[in-house]
Amino acid sequence: MRGKTSVSRGQALAPAPEPRAPGPAATVLNLQRMSTEDGPGLRTTVFLKGCSLACAWCHNPEAMASRPQLVWYGSRCIGTRACITSCGEDALRLEGEEVVIDHRRCTACGDCVDRCASGALETLGIRWQLDALVAEVAKDRSYFAAYGGGVTVSGGEPALHAPFVEPFLRRCRTLGLHTAIDTCGMCSAAALERLTAACDLVLYDLKEIDGEAHAHFTGSSNERILANLRELAGRMRGGSRPSELWIRTPLVPGATLAERNLRGIGAFIAEHVGDVVTRWELCAFNNLAVDKYERLGMVWDHAATPLLTDRELACATEIARGSGVDPSIVFATGSTRAAAPSAASVDVQRGRSNGSAH
Ligand code: SF4
Ligand code: SF4
Repeated sequence: MRGKTSVSRGQALAPAPEPRAPGPAATVLNLQRMSTEDGPGLRTTVFLKGCSLACAWCHNPEAMASRPQLVWYGSRCIGTRACITSCGEDALRLEGEEVVIDHRRCTACGDCVDRCASGALETLGIRWQLDALVAEVAKDRSYFAAYGGGVTVSGGEPALHAPFVEPFLRRCRTLGLHTAIDTCGMCSAAALERLTAACDLVLYDLKEIDGEAHAHFTGSSNERILANLRELAGRMRGGSRPSELWIRTPLVPGATLAERNLRGIGAFIAEHVGDVVTRWELCAFNNLAVDKYERLGMVWDHAATPLLTDRELACATEIARGSGVDPSIVFATGSTRAAAPSAASVDVQRGRSNGSAH
């Protein structure tokens, strides 16, 4: 379609510029700057909303749903209650001093957020256009260069947003930025191939090697995850991107923190992908998500699960290093607590998981 013709005094007739197509967009939960946990160096991590798994231990519950969600911060509320009357969906009510959100009714329209003078209501999930997001992360080039970092796309599951993430990664690479994705691998082979061909590093989660246990803890079996990983390794052997592959395993007491799991994952890595994996990260469970679950009106099975002790983390690392992989690729990350070993450490050593999860 041709553009409209614009006329202004003293100018020849000239076609007005075509309005630009809006281009791809995605719902971003958060842009985290200076991250040290999502790849090498200091990074800017883009957390997208929407995940294909529902891990019982997830510390990013706001990333599970793809839709925007409303949250209320009691500590910021100054009690005007202007939000309550602004809602046309009858989704807000007072319970004592608390504003309670009915998440089934809330459409995240943002009217109450606009009416709140103290910023006590917030919408999680903002639509970003591709151009704007590329420009935003490019602002961090100076610290990427200084500290060997780059951009990581995480979530949620980035492969659910492949039509947005692929061009985003390519644009970042064109700007000379190091790019990574953090994937749970639960996605179509085509979507994963699209993204992995466009980035430098893949952080790939292997959480639980037993299919039934994986389904129990995450809502899905791991067959596709393992198949996707084998295919990715095959492409890398053929010389395709990415140039680097890391495996990440969360260590969750009562779930994945079990000797049989670590030995099983290690054996899988050694047999199928050991020649292309350069790092296997054991990520100690963190319990900082309690407030997030409460704000979303969700119950968290792991609210009372403690951090690992130093001994538990060292023990898990030793088991992983003895599981058949090159021991030098195994690293432990995350915070620990200085306390006596819990039942979980016994389970690591004896090779069974504790609790009722299985
Ligand atoms: S894959 Fe990650 S983001 Fe998705 S539910 Fe599991 S822990 Fe949460
Ligand atoms: S975001 Fe909209 S629908 Fe949700 S509580 Fe606020 S005003 Fe109501």
